[in-house]
Amino acid sequence: EENHRESLLIVTGYAAKFFQQSLWETDAGKSIALSYFKERGFRDEIIKKFELGYSPDQWEAFTSQALKDGYQQQFLEETGLSVKRDNGTLYDRYRGRVMFPIHNFTGRIIAFGGRTLKSDKNVPKYVNSPESEIYHKSNVLYGLNFAKKAIREEDNCYLVEGYADVISVHQSGIENVVASSGTSLTVEQIRLIGRLTKNITILYDGDPAGIKASLRGLDMILEEGLNVKVVSFPDGHDPDSYVRLLGSTGFKNYVNQNKKDFILYKTNILLKEAGNDPIRKAEVIREIVESIAKIPDSIKAAVFIRECSTLLQIEERSLNTELNKIRQAKH
Ligand code: ATP
Ligand code: MN
Ligand code: MN
Ligand code: MN
Repeated sequence: EENHRESLLIVTGYAAKFFQQSLWETDAGKSIALSYFKERGFRDEIIKKFELGYSPDQWEAFTSQALKDGYQQQFLEETGLSVKRDNGTLYDRYRGRVMFPIHNFTGRIIAFGGRTLKSDKNVPKYVNSPESEIYHKSNVLYGLNFAKKAIREEDNCYLVEGYADVISVHQSGIENVVASSGTSLTVEQIRLIGRLTKNITILYDGDPAGIKASLRGLDMILEEGLNVKVVSFPDGHDPDSYVRLLGSTGFKNYVNQNKKDFILYKTNILLKEAGNDPIRKAEVIREIVESIAKIPDSIKAAVFIRECSTLLQIEERSLNTELNKIRQAKH
């Protein structure tokens, strides 16, 4: 079993080298992919650190080279790098895409995300590796291997949505950043962070999907007993685009000045939706107390009840009554 895993890791490592070579040393790589990364503001150093690459825009460029170099068909298929046709031959899963290797905690490459360079809406923006013996999506955070030291030192972890967000934020000097990348945040991912720090700051996209995901994420984080703050971005922006807009220093200032604890964040969003309708306002209060009810530490919960009381101008006593109702309903 350990041998099998190692064989798969050797194949993914080989593939990453192949895609890197294709990025830096082929005409297509240099003119199409490297210039794309440059346009996104990625500098050489960060492209190398994250081992980014390019998959040639051909059906079998990678697979045929890998077979020639002696890699077994079985491992190429299991890692998802090659896909089997009905007639039994293999073709490349990633063609003409910029490649983001996904590393495990110790820095071995276990999977890939490949981004299209086309703006055609019918082409999926990202293609990701399938689950395999070395890649269990729900247990992986993109960038964790590059972030773990800074997460411990800063005693905080920034959580973003995507590959480019991790890379841009990291390049701006904030190295304690990871992405849940595509899969909505899982309990396993939160526990992974929880071994390094008890503090998470969510930096999701400023679109409705990002807001929805951050509301869901903060409840899950609270339930795991961790502290959570949220920084939001204007609609149409994500951390990557915002780093480019504001520059490194501007971005850092923005993050520090716009960090909101979860009550303030959730209250702002829900109250905006509720407008002046008193019945809907009451629902907002209940929803916030629902989040507080997820906090396992009762002293912490009491602190947040007080904050909520001040913020919403509601007596602590009625909030506590609501809190107890929700807690009893759960048991
Ligand atoms: P970019 O900046 O390159 O356009 P993004 O990271 O901002 O991409 P989002 O649409 O915000 O893209 O998606 C966030 C993350 O979700 C992506 O980085 C990727 O990991 C994952 N993702 C997005 N679209 C897909 C897809 N079609 N299939 C699989 N994963 C996807
Ligand atoms: Mn998004
Ligand atoms: Mn995005
Ligand atoms: Mn983006």
